[in-house]
Amino acid sequence: MRQPLVVGNWKMNGRLGEAEELARAIAGAEVDWEHVSSGICPPFPLIDRVASAVQDSPVAWGAQNLHQEDSGAFTGEVAGPLLKDLGCTYVIVGHSERRDYFGESNELVAEKFFAAKRNGLIPILCVGETEAERDAGKAGEVVREQVQAVLGDGKEDVFRDAVIAYEPVWAIGTGRTATPEQAQEMHALIRGLVKEAYPITGQSLKILYGGSMKAASAPELMAQEDIDGGLIGGASLKADEFIGILRAAVASDL
Ligand code: PEP
Repeated sequence: MRQPLVVGNWKMNGRLGEAEELARAIAGAEVDWEHVSSGICPPFPLIDRVASAVQDSPVAWGAQNLHQEDSGAFTGEVAGPLLKDLGCTYVIVGHSERRDYFGESNELVAEKFFAAKRNGLIPILCVGETEAERDAGKAGEVVREQVQAVLGDGKEDVFRDAVIAYEPVWAIGTGRTATPEQAQEMHALIRGLVKEAYPITGQSLKILYGGSMKAASAPELMAQEDIDGGLIGGASLKADEFIGILRAAVASDL
């Protein structure tokens, strides 16, 4: 019922030439696109290039961040209306690297989430606990707070037309993947929270797993009931790995 979604987060990687080549390889891959949706989120200056490379394919594109305001004196920032002009479908908000290195709080992430929605972009809200939080038995509590910061008083159906990515911080870029059981437990918790407020939205919400997912680990993860695809960092920079993950997503949908 929920078609899988696989999104590549290129982070601060890619130069003009290679970006186009990689995007073209993904767009032209032999994948059963009837059974998977996909997007690429390159650094801001590469968005237009990637868009040109994939625009005649089923692959969408997006950004890795946006400012919470729609315009203004915020040197070095990029706002939602421009991302919309660039044809972005998705924008990642609250990635753990932004929370950690750029001090983004739950409150700021919520503001960015709503800026995305206000501008007709699909926010991919990243949530996830650190290793210390998991070891202290606080993984559920941390993730609940991160989701709750966006859900607020529950008066609005905020997760309609949105995506959540569960990304345990200890698994991002480390080569350590959460076990399918660990990931499923957290995905079920997240879906439960949204369902409590909005049953239909909770049921249809795509919840992606992120954290060192590779073509080899994707099938088992995506076989879990509440895992609807992946947010892919390192492996999205290698065409064959990313295409392998897309194919695993297709297989999970059949
Ligand atoms: C990410 O940055 O969202 C991510 C999941 O990275 P990686 O796949 O490299 O762990």
